[in-house]
Amino acid sequence: MGQLLRIIIILIGVWLVLSIIKRALASRRKSRADQTSIPKMVACDLCGTHVPESEAICEDGRHYCSEAHQKEARG
Ligand SMILES: [Zn+2]
Repeated sequence: MGQLLRIIIILIGVWLVLSIIKRALASRRKSRADQTSIPKMVACDLCGTHVPESEAICEDGRHYCSEAHQKEARG
C-alpha cells in the first residue's frame, strides 16, 4: 500500500513538472509573438504616408516619411 502511494505521488510530481514546462514554453512562444508584432505606424505630416515609427523622421512632435518631406515642410 505504501509503495502504491509513493508511485502515485511520483506520477503526480511528474505530471506537475510536465505541465509547468508546457506552460513555460507556451508563455515564451507568446511573448516572442508579441515582439514580432506590427510596429507602430505614424503618418507623414506632409503626404500622409504611413511609415513605421522607427523609420520615420521626427521633428517637433511631427513625423515625416523622408528627409525630403521634412525639408519641404520646413520650407
Ligand atoms: Zn511624406
